[in-house]
Amino acid sequence: MKKGLYPGSFDPVTNGHLDMIERGSKMFDTLYVAVVKNESKKCLFSVEERKTMLEEVCKNYKNVEVVISEARLTVDIAKELNVDVILRGLRAVTDFEYEIQMASTNSQLNDDIETIFMMTNIKYSFLSSSIVKEVASLGGDVSKFVPKYICEKLEEKNIK
Ligand code: ADP
Repeated sequence: MKKGLYPGSFDPVTNGHLDMIERGSKMFDTLYVAVVKNESKKCLFSVEERKTMLEEVCKNYKNVEVVISEARLTVDIAKELNVDVILRGLRAVTDFEYEIQMASTNSQLNDDIETIFMMTNIKYSFLSSSIVKEVASLGGDVSKFVPKYICEKLEEKNIK
């Protein structure tokens, strides 16, 4: 059984994340998607809301399971779930510095756990949760960037 762990803030999940999840789900028997509560990031949605949104948009991927990770190291969640591969996405070069720092820190914390990177789908290379929230807050249409269900959840937040 090959298991993978895809951690992130997912505030909210975008089509870029979903593309990663779809591709990742083909690489592993089980892909855990962990909603990380990161105190240094001010999020629009609570961890529970982010988990519910991910569950809804991932419901067709039968081997994908959404979990919450609060105040825990990613390597510790991985160990708990018996996962030895962390999956992360790379968009532009700007992601690289942060991602390599995280990956090397994680490998020093637990060298049994490997981080692998998947290149973004070129269609989503400039897509981020932050840009989606910014466009939505200015009254723009985000339906090309997130599933319809997430558009509705953004509307409910009334961030305009
Ligand atoms: P974090 O706060 O942990 O960076 P994010 O939710 O922003 O959480 O991203 C989670 C992961 O998904 C990261 O590895 C990020 O690089 C990747 N990611 C985000 N957007 C995209 C995208 N459009 N294409 C591919 N990977 C992406």
